[in-house]
Amino acid sequence: MAAVAVLPLLEQTPTLAPAPHRDLCTDCGVSRSSHAASCGKVCQFIHPKYDALERQVHGRTRARTGDEAFFGPFRAMHRARLQTPLAGAQWTGITTRIGERLLATGAVDAVLATASDPEDRWRPRPAILTRPEEMAQCRGMKMGYSPILALLDEATARGYRRLAVIGVACQVHALRALESTLGLERLYVIGTPCSDNTTTERFHEFLGLLTDTPARVTYLEFLADFRVELRFDDGRTQFIPFMQLPISQLPADFFPATCRACFDYTNSLSDLTVGYMAGEGEQWLLVRTARGEELCALLADELVLSAPGSAGDRSGAVRTFVRVLERSVGGLPVRRAPKWVRPLIGWAQRRFGPKGLEFARTRVEMKAAEGILSLRQQRPHRMRRMIPAFAWDLVARYGIVAQPGERLEAQP
Ligand SMILES: Cc1cc2nc3c(=O)[nH]c(=O)nc-3n(C[C@H](O)[C@H](O)[C@H](O)COP(=O)(O)OP(=O)(O)OC[C@H]3O[C@@H](n4cnc5c(N)ncnc54)[C@H](O)[C@@H]3O)c2cc1C
Ligand code: SF4
Ligand code: SF4
Repeated sequence: MAAVAVLPLLEQTPTLAPAPHRDLCTDCGVSRSSHAASCGKVCQFIHPKYDALERQVHGRTRARTGDEAFFGPFRAMHRARLQTPLAGAQWTGITTRIGERLLATGAVDAVLATASDPEDRWRPRPAILTRPEEMAQCRGMKMGYSPILALLDEATARGYRRLAVIGVACQVHALRALESTLGLERLYVIGTPCSDNTTTERFHEFLGLLTDTPARVTYLEFLADFRVELRFDDGRTQFIPFMQLPISQLPADFFPATCRACFDYTNSLSDLTVGYMAGEGEQWLLVRTARGEELCALLADELVLSAPGSAGDRSGAVRTFVRVLERSVGGLPVRRAPKWVRPLIGWAQRRFGPKGLEFARTRVEMKAAEGILSLRQQRPHRMRRMIPAFAWDLVARYGIVAQPGERLEAQP
């Protein structure tokens, strides 16, 4: 495994307590912190509070119709890119640049984000960043859990009262539920969408199935045109259609039960969501709150914004996905397609498949269906508590409806 340089900022970041084992836990960091006793109240897997937290953050719950029904409350939505993309970023580096600007302008004392482990670029390592130039060390996606919320204790101990946190939805859910107890003067939450996360060890197995030189892979992304992009340290790139991914060779528990049953794909409790799904090759911003507007304003001169496009019809793709899930509840539709047909399907997906916002709606519906069906198979007793009303609404048109005892109408 190629080692990455030891970073000064990681030397400043305290060693974290070990994570106690819990069923359905993505190690967001709460259980390693002084807030450990709150897991039962703040965790999206134990006591999800989607409606209450949407009211807390946005002053209202999401609209039941239109794009909010898919993506959660927002004020504005953009296709976006940095005029000058940052080298080493996952996309153009909007997330990193926001962190840099927050620190450079003194809007926050510190940013909590995820760097790479010095020994393994793919292993997440939570970090406290206090200088703009340190943000570069957090560029790029790592696969695995990042216990960033464990750093809230250290941030408090250092007297930081104005914080920004960059995180995925399960982290943001717990953070928002804890927010009022943290004694913060100001909190900016920059969220990324997240799906199909797994442990770093499992991700290495996956890389080993994709290429003969897994140790040379520096970048991986599931593109919005139904292909995976790999980049290598010698400048090579490789594109693999989703249909040709070696999903059937992965063990049944490759995607953990947590990430399969995670319903807030687009990180709706953040101030600003920075993703790519509706970006058609660029990034995708969902500005959700007044703080989110401030974050965009920080980059005003550097961002190129346009209206997100939308094309195609998701219904067929989602319906097929649901049918296969109902049969297997263990993988993706590609499992059943004969090998010779897969390149053709891959071509058709790219040519005729949903694009832009319709692609994002497709993925959100697929994830909601996967969450419900996998819970029904693996943890039926959790369904009532874990599945939000908005997820049931999304999948009703595909014939997935709650059976007696599966649905909680109003969440506390
Ligand atoms: C596991 C995972 C799955 C994702 N799936 C999707 C998806 O399906 N659709 C989509 O639109 N976007 C997804 N994203 C987000 C996407 O990969 C980009 O991070 C995002 O679009 C921002 O790009 P950027 O160039 O602005 O990021 P950069 O400027 O490169 O910054 C990346 C940021 O991601 C954070 N980060 C990296 N790894 C982790 C991690 N393991 N846990 C928490 N935070 C991390 C870092 O703190 C850093 O600030 C996913 C991210 C992760 C971590
Ligand atoms: S709150 Fe975080 S640490 Fe606690 S159980 Fe949930 S995911 Fe795990
Ligand atoms: S898929 Fe969901 S549960 Fe898994 S790491 Fe991402 S946000 Fe957390």
